Amino acid sequence: MAYSNYFNPEETLDREGIERLQAERLRSTVAHCMGSGFYRKRFRDIGLSHEDIKTLDDLQKIPFTTKQDLRDTYPFGMASIPLSKCTRLHSSSGTTGNPTVILHSQKDLEQWANAVARCLWMVGCRPEDVFQNTSGYGMFTGGLGFQYGAELLGMLTVPAAAGNTLRQIKFFTDFGTTVVHAIPSYAARLHEVMCERGVDPRRDTKLRTLVIGAEPHSDQTRRRIENMLGVKAYNSFGMSEMCGPGVAFECPEQNGMHIWEDYYIVEIIDPVTLKPVPEGEVGELVLTTINREAMPLLRYRTRDLTRILPGECPCGRHHKRIDRIKGRSDDMIILKGVNIFPIQVEQVLVQFKELASDYLITLDTVDGSDYMTVEVELAGSNIDDYAALQTLERNITRMLRDEILVTPKVKLLPKGSIPQSEGKAVRVKDNRKQYQ
Ligand code: AMP
Ligand code: ZN
Repeated sequence: MAYSNYFNPEETLDREGIERLQAERLRSTVAHCMGSGFYRKRFRDIGLSHEDIKTLDDLQKIPFTTKQDLRDTYPFGMASIPLSKCTRLHSSSGTTGNPTVILHSQKDLEQWANAVARCLWMVGCRPEDVFQNTSGYGMFTGGLGFQYGAELLGMLTVPAAAGNTLRQIKFFTDFGTTVVHAIPSYAARLHEVMCERGVDPRRDTKLRTLVIGAEPHSDQTRRRIENMLGVKAYNSFGMSEMCGPGVAFECPEQNGMHIWEDYYIVEIIDPVTLKPVPEGEVGELVLTTINREAMPLLRYRTRDLTRILPGECPCGRHHKRIDRIKGRSDDMIILKGVNIFPIQVEQVLVQFKELASDYLITLDTVDGSDYMTVEVELAGSNIDDYAALQTLERNITRMLRDEILVTPKVKLLPKGSIPQSEGKAVRVKDNRKQYQ
């Protein structure tokens, strides 16, 4: 059966076509946003009318939306349509206090599935493929997001969900899985366990395509994973606030991620001056959703640092390409795909009167997997009661796991052991390979 290279006609629009569509959708999105109490007030406060937004340049008149705005309006204050018309919500990890809530209408969910299907189609996935998803299902959007996209494309889907590596490998071999979605650290773990069990991915499986994302990783890591598993690995970028996966994705050229500009308007700003950076320079990614119904976001500061890659892509798509994510303009850590803020760790530690206030979070990569160690100083000088210390360590570990959803290694140290830095305290040391 002959297939087209493209899933949607919008993929082939030229720059003029993209920008015309964006201006149209921006106008209708801004008008639609007036259904949200939050945006109505925002606009009124600065004397802006939705009718003032006519062209793409007018976007600059609109204030940024931040994660804090989402927290402040928790749970439903950002909605632009009545709740009775919403059909799902997702909630983002990695926040203290109020989490962020993202609402979706049925149409939003269909558009989201379409964006994910488009990404998967772009890298050669077809209905004959078997797609296995190793993401957690539930609030984490990598589960349901990929599930509906892969189903829309028509692949046989294996919603294996996270964990149970032996079972994942058994599914690969028994179901003839050809496409896998995994976070980079888990892809390496899959290979490790395959080696332990004498499973050769090239000989014993039909794996061909890997979709990796959700956390920063270098091109080197990608190549290593490709070699291990005998697959082509494509970088997938998304975030809950923008639905989830399907925001930007590499094409077969593997030279940056096309960001779907019929869904989003892209800006790159200097996170300090908040002014646009010159084309090609690294800055903070700011996105405006232009086809969302339940909860459109205008000029949302993602905090992700990247740049627009110059030049045309040989694949024929004119949608801009963003470079690999270089880091964050806030202090968020991403570990095993989970978002963590250092303040969450601190808020657990301060609850233990046995602890002093100095602590250090270290992130390391060991055998392809990422780990967190939390070193913290004891308040008192009496550290001879070994059993009591062990119990304390266990209790801290348990409370941290409940708060940050990953299990760190906790080390208790005598007072004065953590080196003091001049000026601002250094709370996080990231030794992971993807940042080198
Ligand atoms: P979440 O809302 O939990 O899905 O987390 C979204 C965040 O994960 C983004 O803002 C990025 O910081 C990070 N992220 C997602 N995909 C990638 C990727 N391909 N490369 C690097 N970081 C990513
Ligand atoms: Zn391309």
